[in-house]
Amino acid sequence: MQDAVVGVYGASGFGREVMPVLREHLRPILGGNVKTHIVFIDDNPPAEELNGHKVLTYEEFMAFPAAERLAVVAIADAGLREKISDRLAKDFISFIHLKASNVVVMDDVEFGIGAILCPFVTITSNVRIGNHFHANIYSYVAHDCVIGNYVTFAPNVHCNGNVHIEDYAYIGTGAILRQGTPDKPLRIGKGAVVGMGAVVTKDVPAGVTVVGNPARPLQK
Ligand code: UDP
Repeated sequence: MQDAVVGVYGASGFGREVMPVLREHLRPILGGNVKTHIVFIDDNPPAEELNGHKVLTYEEFMAFPAAERLAVVAIADAGLREKISDRLAKDFISFIHLKASNVVVMDDVEFGIGAILCPFVTITSNVRIGNHFHANIYSYVAHDCVIGNYVTFAPNVHCNGNVHIEDYAYIGTGAILRQGTPDKPLRIGKGAVVGMGAVVTKDVPAGVTVVGNPARPLQK
């Protein structure tokens, strides 16, 4: 059996946006000796089929008759993304490094596994990025940034140079992170949340949500 099955894990909003990027990524290798099946994987399938692709449960994906299984985890929530990635890794599923064809990646950029770089993303030079990073459409990461594991950028995030972002942080749509310096990078702490449209001029402590311009901790 030669077939391969490639799954977008998560058949919701983000998954449906990632699917065309995956199709485009796989196009050059489709049509050879290996038949590649492209599917959604979802533990709570919203339909049997979505946008022309079967939606399989994880058990169905694992039972699918194929010699090779690959996946990309398209779930924005970092905790769920970690839980699902751990399960896939334990079952020896390989992760795809997914990059839309118009993404720009400049010099000396290192990625961990499982990144998703959506259309119109730019990563400039001398950047370090951890595992399972999501950069949604139109986001950028500028020079000398260091980004941890399971970090999520919503659309149109402006991450300027010398910004350090720790694991599980979530940066909302249109947020602007002020440039740091080599001696004093701007730091976004572990699990911090930056609200949509926030303009972050100071470090954000771990676990804190900031909103507004200039960004301040959210008062509950
Ligand atoms: N999901 C899943 N397994 C889990 C948790 C979530 O398959 O353990 C699926 C869930 O059924 C849903 C998707 O992941 O279809 C998450 O979609 P949501 O709209 O919450 O987020 P987004 O598309 O923005 O990532």
